[in-house]
Amino acid sequence: MALTIYRSLLWVLFCLSLKATASELRSDELVVPSNLAQGGLVIATVAPGYSVKYKGEPLKINEKGMFILGLGRDADELMRLVVANDKGHQTDYTFPVAKRKYNIQSIEGVPQRTVTPNLEDVARIRQDSLLVKNARQGVSDRQDFLAGFKKPLEGPVTGVYGSQRVYNGTPKNPHYGVDYAAPKGTIVRAPAAGVVQLAHSDLFYSGGTVIMDHGFGLNSSFLHLSAVLVAEGQEVKQGDPIGKVGATGRATGPHLDWRMNWLNVRIDPQLVMESLPAE
Ligand SMILES: [Zn+2]
Repeated sequence: MALTIYRSLLWVLFCLSLKATASELRSDELVVPSNLAQGGLVIATVAPGYSVKYKGEPLKINEKGMFILGLGRDADELMRLVVANDKGHQTDYTFPVAKRKYNIQSIEGVPQRTVTPNLEDVARIRQDSLLVKNARQGVSDRQDFLAGFKKPLEGPVTGVYGSQRVYNGTPKNPHYGVDYAAPKGTIVRAPAAGVVQLAHSDLFYSGGTVIMDHGFGLNSSFLHLSAVLVAEGQEVKQGDPIGKVGATGRATGPHLDWRMNWLNVRIDPQLVMESLPAE
């Protein structure tokens, strides 16, 4: 009994030592936002000279000690960071991650071939996913994300991150983007600056597709475009036109599907806009 009380007292003291404000958890060497959630982008800071590992991998840290990482749709309830000083002394930190509820969304009327692809399609899908994987590879030095993110167009949100998708009655993978409905031909603008990694007029599932690198492993994808207005390798500023809304690939009508990734982790663009709003 006495031991239990002692332990909870230690826990409270530990929490107090981490808690500086309501919105962040702070220790001498680490500052992490307190509102971590599945699908979110974590923007945190470590003291000079320290390194940080997440899931065994060292994270890229900028000159101010800032680093980022993405939490997946089904991320564990605790995020663990290992912080080390230049002498190699390590400290483990764990932070709670809020669980999210995802709805089920049924979509009727997509081309049946995009639900039950034939053998030829399957080969194409494999090729496409390689192109996409390559476009999302690498952790560049760019820090475009620091200026924040804006909506790529104005339009009603018709699909959200994480929902379980049922296409023409067949359960499929969850939806990982945010869908904005807009008339065909509506200009899609870069939500943040970056460099174009992929500009393709016709991928099997996503049709006209643009992928942009915003730096530190963070990237955006724009799907179902009727026209691609940028070329691979092109530098794009925030607000620049990058494509036009369409219904190419697996879509029932014209809309933009905007996705975001941190490395291979799919994150929620709506949460990214909340954590990194543009001025
Ligand atoms: Zn979508």
